[in-house]
Amino acid sequence: MQVTSTGSLSKRRPTRQIRVGDVAVGGGAPVSVQSMTTTKTADAEATLSQIYALAAAGADLVRCTCNEEAAAEGLARIVPRSPVPIIADIHFHYEMALAALEAGVQGLRLNPGNLRKVHEIRLVAGEAKDRGVPIRIGVNAGSLHPDLYKRFGGATPEALVESARMELAIFADVGFDDVKISVKASSVPLMIDAYRLASETFDHPLHLGVTEAGPPPSGLLKGTAGIGTLLAEGIGDTIRYSLTADPVEEARAGRQLLEVLGLRERKGLDLIACPSCGRAEIDVIAVARAAQEALGERNLPIQVAVMGCVVNGPGEAREADLGIAAGRKRGHLFIKGKIVRVVPEDEMVEALVAEAEKLVAEGVEARLAAADSGAEAEAEADRLALFEAKGPDANASEARVALIRKRHTGEDPPA
Ligand code: SF4
Repeated sequence: MQVTSTGSLSKRRPTRQIRVGDVAVGGGAPVSVQSMTTTKTADAEATLSQIYALAAAGADLVRCTCNEEAAAEGLARIVPRSPVPIIADIHFHYEMALAALEAGVQGLRLNPGNLRKVHEIRLVAGEAKDRGVPIRIGVNAGSLHPDLYKRFGGATPEALVESARMELAIFADVGFDDVKISVKASSVPLMIDAYRLASETFDHPLHLGVTEAGPPPSGLLKGTAGIGTLLAEGIGDTIRYSLTADPVEEARAGRQLLEVLGLRERKGLDLIACPSCGRAEIDVIAVARAAQEALGERNLPIQVAVMGCVVNGPGEAREADLGIAAGRKRGHLFIKGKIVRVVPEDEMVEALVAEAEKLVAEGVEARLAAADSGAEAEAEADRLALFEAKGPDANASEARVALIRKRHTGEDPPA
């Protein structure tokens, strides 16, 4: 019997669709890959750098912890510059969920096992509803509500699904249903049974994961056994490997699993682009589209970044093989984050294509060695001039930070 590569696996169990920022989840959308940052969210630059690395490795969505006010303030600075939608991970403190919404996150994850007060949950759901932000009900066998643990005699599949059902009922009190659900466990058989039951019980999109799977290779095997089994049954709309490792490995594994199952296309050329923000010096969408068209025809096996500004672009996309960032009517070509050439703005795409072909033919070392000697200095001058022109708060992140502080302390920030 001949088995085709995408045949039966492309048949998914129907779920409703939600949107996390610009990423559709469920309802026939491609299964998406998630990962989670390990940096302090308060450190916006380090977190953004990790987010870019995760996006480059295949993450469609990235979750960051929001465990303190400084983390929420970090999110206000991260969200406008992130290449992928950001989900805030909330435990215990509903105020952190409200602050993360103020920061502009595109999704929330609540743990019903440790955020238990009904009026607080309603408050968060109401605010999420007003802002059009979806919430993941993230049930976890290890932190199941003690009452449920007692009622079901342990963290059984039924107990995990009941926890999600109860949270949905609280959300329904305020008319909120923009939800995806996870019922994770570190035991693979338990997790598989819980998701099978969840899939029969809810039509909401399901986020799959084996929690606390541990370091590779055993963590990878556990994740693949649990997530892969469910995906093969048509269950699951978004996935995350939970590894005790660099999260880039999680994103890479997630992407690879979907590719080998025929649920996502294999990548040749991988073009990434920043979302554009208050610092952008070009129409990022138009330049990215032109670059995609020109490079796509050649399908070179490299990752290329199109970045809206030279202030942050080369640093944010330092993992890309090649990139271009805009500044003062010029394009700054960079290889692995190092500026190699400065070209006029209207020659950006042409220069990018020419450099991409040389890079594939000659390799990174040779092309770094062929860099224009004055390029770094020219780029630095443009970077400083732009930074001065737009100031340190081009994205009005500080205004959001002031709102977060006001919500937290009730006081107006000092002028
Ligand atoms: S315009 Fe600059 S700061 Fe804004 S997202 Fe793009 S590269 Fe980052």
